Amino acid sequence: MSSTLRRTWANIDLDALAYNYRALKAHIGEGVKFMGIVKADAYGHGSVQVGRCLEEAGADYLAVSSIDEAMELRVGGITMPVLILGHTPRDQVEKLIDYDITQTITCEAKAINYSNEAMKLGKTLKVHIKVDTGMSRLGYLCDDGFFDGGVANIVEDCQMPGLDVEGIFTHFAMADEDGEEALAYTRHQFKLFCDVISSVEERSGKKFRIRHCANTGATARFPETHLDMVRPGLLLYGYGDYARDLGLQPVMSLKTAVQTIKHYPAGTKISYGGTFTTDRKTRMGVLPYGYADGFLRSLSNKAQVMTSEGPARQCGRICMDMSMIDLTDKHSVGVGSEVEIFGKLNPVEEMAAAGGTIPYELVCAVSKRVPRVYLKDGQVIERELLLRF
Ligand SMILES: *Cc1c(COP(=O)(O)O)cnc(C)c1O
Repeated sequence: MSSTLRRTWANIDLDALAYNYRALKAHIGEGVKFMGIVKADAYGHGSVQVGRCLEEAGADYLAVSSIDEAMELRVGGITMPVLILGHTPRDQVEKLIDYDITQTITCEAKAINYSNEAMKLGKTLKVHIKVDTGMSRLGYLCDDGFFDGGVANIVEDCQMPGLDVEGIFTHFAMADEDGEEALAYTRHQFKLFCDVISSVEERSGKKFRIRHCANTGATARFPETHLDMVRPGLLLYGYGDYARDLGLQPVMSLKTAVQTIKHYPAGTKISYGGTFTTDRKTRMGVLPYGYADGFLRSLSNKAQVMTSEGPARQCGRICMDMSMIDLTDKHSVGVGSEVEIFGKLNPVEEMAAAGGTIPYELVCAVSKRVPRVYLKDGQVIERELLLRF
């Protein structure tokens, strides 16, 4: 890539994304809709570009966390249905309706507010009901002693004149965890969700048009949970064990180039705090990639990056703008040589495991200072620098 601000960039492979979408469509089969999760700027990949790619590929729905993220898609020219998973203030209802954005409803008080606001405008707001079956975050509480009350509230809210209730959904807390306990928990959540749906439909006489609950783990592992639509995030971007099992491709490759090479004798302390000491004559590369770019400082002395001569370990504390790597045995790697921080050659899963975190956090952490470079048919089609200058 020609020089950008700092010579660290994220390649976003839209062909891999489209491939993953098609592979997942084949996996879920005919008759199941596909909602692409593009919250948090599409897990750091760029929500407008990812949204556009999914829209072209024929996906049915997108989901974001807030009205700001939804507006970014609309302003970016995306016209397909968009669901906001989180809260929107009631004074924004007109905007939701004007831009045809679907809102999640998580409790009766909000249902009343939204319905009233929509009625004032003489319109209806399209909504999906969120059921809390065990995630204990958002949604109508419906477990155990709360079942009858929860169902009664949902039935009532489905009749509200300002609301067009299109869908109902829940979120799994353990669909991607191993073990019997997690399996039982997911089964319980799913059964409860199905029970809520059938009770509400029976009492209200209405049928939900879109019932959905399958996140990454459930999309990959539990076909019975696919219902009318699946809702994967991480899987779509090609990360994690389930993506590997399904043969999906990682979409982001984070790259940088060696900025400087230094030679040190054995016994030299490297970087802040001197947490790394060279144990031999060392040829150390400096990368223009630090924690302000998304290289978590907690990965210091734990991560490795991929050079053309194989993995190089990161040495010393990761700084704000830079980090050091050991290039002693890699003679062909010099100033200007490209290094993959994570991507197709250096799996993000390994770096996440080394840092005691999850791939989600590492891709979301890639900061606005890192330009995104979009590739389609192997060609660069767009470069986005989020930093303004
Ligand atoms: C983020 C999110 C998803 C996607 O989760 P993944 O684990 O990335 O598949 C699905 N549903 C809801 C409600 C979410 O918040």
